[in-house]
Amino acid sequence: MIIKFISVYLFVGVLLLSFMFVNSFVRGNSSYTKAFGVFCLTTQVYLLGYLLEINAGSLEDMFFWNQVQYFGIPFFPALWLIVSILYTGKGKYLKGVGGIVVFIIPVTTFFLRLTNGWHHWYYSAVILQEFRGINFMLLTKGPWYFVQIAYVLTTLFISTWIYYQRYQNSTGDEKMQFRLLLLASGLMYLAMPLVAVNAGGIGIDYTALILPPCILLLYLSLTQYNFLEIKDLARERVFEESGTGLILLNRFYRVVDYNDASIAFFRWFDVSISEEQLKILLADQPELLNCVMESKTQVFHFSVDGEVRYVSIHSRDVQNKKEIVGYLISFEDVTERETLKQRLIEMANTDELTRLNNRRRFTACAEAADLRARRNHENLSVLMMDIDFFKKVNDSYGHHGGDAVLRDFAAMLADTFSGTDIVGRIGGEEFAVVMLNTDAKKAVSKAEVFRKAVAEKMIIHEDQAIRVTVSIGVAELSEATADFDALMNCADRALYKAKNSGRNQTVLLKKT
Ligand code: GH3
Ligand code: MG
Ligand code: MG
Repeated sequence: MIIKFISVYLFVGVLLLSFMFVNSFVRGNSSYTKAFGVFCLTTQVYLLGYLLEINAGSLEDMFFWNQVQYFGIPFFPALWLIVSILYTGKGKYLKGVGGIVVFIIPVTTFFLRLTNGWHHWYYSAVILQEFRGINFMLLTKGPWYFVQIAYVLTTLFISTWIYYQRYQNSTGDEKMQFRLLLLASGLMYLAMPLVAVNAGGIGIDYTALILPPCILLLYLSLTQYNFLEIKDLARERVFEESGTGLILLNRFYRVVDYNDASIAFFRWFDVSISEEQLKILLADQPELLNCVMESKTQVFHFSVDGEVRYVSIHSRDVQNKKEIVGYLISFEDVTERETLKQRLIEMANTDELTRLNNRRRFTACAEAADLRARRNHENLSVLMMDIDFFKKVNDSYGHHGGDAVLRDFAAMLADTFSGTDIVGRIGGEEFAVVMLNTDAKKAVSKAEVFRKAVAEKMIIHEDQAIRVTVSIGVAELSEATADFDALMNCADRALYKAKNSGRNQTVLLKKT
């Protein structure tokens, strides 16, 4: 009766473990779920062996199934420990020697049990006993058996301690989870004294019986509250689904992972991304490569389907204990931001009415050109212009008429002086031009061409023809003009003279 009950119980246990094995090992994503899956598999072998052992007819069969159990028994404590280590994020302890140490005793137990017939170190004697017509196998423990028991106790103790540490440092649901994990460990301790005193006197393996509820508890707490797996999955999802292109490089700058968005960005660069050295992938994009290698943040622009697109590239180190183990490169489409920025810059530097450089940009560009010319001993001339009697234009044709004149005048300026000349509106109806590599003579003749063209031009506004003239002062860069301001003053004085001498003329002040 008792054997039947135990058999059914073990059978259900094996089914349960199969289910947990498939769910954890096959469906699980993180390392600890995989380890938990293997743990289920080892206990499954153990329980199945035990089920068949107690139902075997002969001593030989019993002994055989007992041997089968040892494909699982030595290893499940190791895996129990490994799950707790991995689950609490201490996986680094299992790398290298740590991982080997954990398995030294299990592997030895496995081989000693397999070869017990030769040395009897594991079981010193095997006795078959009959109890109410049923055969029970009583095994006398050899020296290594106690080593294995000590190992089980040690692993169980360490994992309980690991869970306890986390239990103390956790709150809310996480605390509840570690309480369940501690409960599962506690149940395991319960089996120890029962086995030790051989409760019931028929050699029942209480460890095998207590394992299914223990593992079920472990399974429930790991799956119901699997925060760490959620974290891993969330991280993976963020990486995969981010609109930002993300590329992970190892410390030798080889691509080890990349998301879908990065594929699109690499298309901008005309490169198809693969797990390759970045140096090879970006061989035709040296600036981009340089930006990544030097961990800079930089904005690049590319022409994509005839449109200018901007990408911001940012590279950051991935560190493990202060040691650089790789690099995370992000690619962000900043086209909208950049175009807006360009527009704002444009607006801040352009005169709204005439679309010419405003005073600010004109001065900045002109000062830079002035410095360059002085450094390189090149010619440079400035023209200052002021429309004559402009107040009268406003008076006769209204403000709109005046504006139309300013627009047309500016368009003529832009047409006449282009290329390297710097043209700007520096006041209401005042304009200036900086001519590079141009001496005073050439500047005067160009100014005259323009002045005459203005005088001849009829500006049509609301069916009315408006005519204006312009006075122009010319100055040439020379040692007498200490800086750009002085040069402008000089041109201003020439303009003043042009106005006083009857307007509609170009004046170059004689050098003093
Ligand atoms: P002068 O020959 O001495 O230069 O005579 P002027 O009438 O041009 O003299 P002044 O420089 O004093 O007058 C400039 C006028 O230009 C004054 C102002 O009302 C007008 N003005 C300035 N900015 C604008 C503008 O954006 N649109 C229009 N329509 N008029 C403007
Ligand atoms: Mg004026
Ligand atoms: Mg004027």
